[in-house]
Amino acid sequence: MALKFDLLSTHPSGARRARIHLPHQTVETPVFMPVGTQGTVKAVPQQILEELGPNRQGAQIILGNTYHLYLRPGHELIARLGGLHKFISWPRAMLTDSGGFQVFSLSKLRKISDEGVRFRSHLDGSSHMFSPEHSMDVQIALGADIGMAFDECTEYPADESRAAESLKYTMAWAARSLNHFRANQRKVPWHNDRALINPINPDGSPASQSLFGIVQGGMYMHLRRESAQRLVEMDFDGYAIGGLSVGEPRALTLETIAEVLPLLPKDKPRYVMGVGFPDEIVEYARMGVDMMDCVIPTRAARHGLLFTSEGRMNIKNRQFAEDPNPPDPNCACPTCSRYSRAYLRHLMQTGEPLGGTLNSIHNLAFYLTTMANLRAELEATPPEVAAPELK
Ligand SMILES: [Zn+2]
Repeated sequence: MALKFDLLSTHPSGARRARIHLPHQTVETPVFMPVGTQGTVKAVPQQILEELGPNRQGAQIILGNTYHLYLRPGHELIARLGGLHKFISWPRAMLTDSGGFQVFSLSKLRKISDEGVRFRSHLDGSSHMFSPEHSMDVQIALGADIGMAFDECTEYPADESRAAESLKYTMAWAARSLNHFRANQRKVPWHNDRALINPINPDGSPASQSLFGIVQGGMYMHLRRESAQRLVEMDFDGYAIGGLSVGEPRALTLETIAEVLPLLPKDKPRYVMGVGFPDEIVEYARMGVDMMDCVIPTRAARHGLLFTSEGRMNIKNRQFAEDPNPPDPNCACPTCSRYSRAYLRHLMQTGEPLGGTLNSIHNLAFYLTTMANLRAELEATPPEVAAPELK
């Protein structure tokens, strides 16, 4: 066991208030994790990420992307520089994905076999092989607090036989990922570093990486149940639900989460990958999801879409050309406390990179504040009393 999970309260809706003790950070959940694909949360410096949200608590945990970092600058280079935390100067917790999603969504000429996936880089066409063992070696070299089992993200739509075949790979690869991870996890760059926030495992051994399994199965509930049950038998440190937000109707996303959550152990973290809009992440957290990540706040920001306490705002709209007000009058982020809607619109109109940066800072602050407010609400609501309705 590499992480310690404290379940503080469970509410009638299913919502959980919990605390995950990771080597680099104790993470308060439900938590939103900004995505740092290339070792950077796009356009936002690390020192600003550390201070966003209420009480300048900042982002507690961010994602790195195994596929991208493997191709550039390479996991071995990052390991030589002390691992991903040191390389990007991020002292708090990190999570790396398995690389599977990008292999399937970005790379060219994929060839899947029992061994793994052979693919051509989307950058230069060079040929690479990702197996479960190789994904683990890359993730151990990067050294995030949490790694993910190598999986195949089933596309949508996929017919039942295709989803079942895809799940067969994901399940075999999950077992191989876990075996290889357990045998090699002591190679993580910060093994034995006593300066960590949580340097000791619950069992007294030095802090180590954790590995989560990923529930797949497309939109077929019996495959999802089979996937969850078999992963739980393998005994991962936490469990993710993958293969959602791939174009399916929202009702299916909700149905899948509701089907899988009761099958997962209560004493381990639950993570839904790649979701969602602010109202969606609140809804999933209320169902009992502890962790979520998404590129939406930063991607939308670069296109001028802001999430505010008054709803969505396209800052490029003409109506903001002479608007001296802050983007969100109820937001205390560095963008809203200093800049006007008119200025942000001007930056977008002229294509200035500062526009994307200031918009991203606000959107991330809004997401982090949304989750902090939910945590505060859960703390203020006795678990035996029904939580108030959403919105
Ligand atoms: Zn703001």
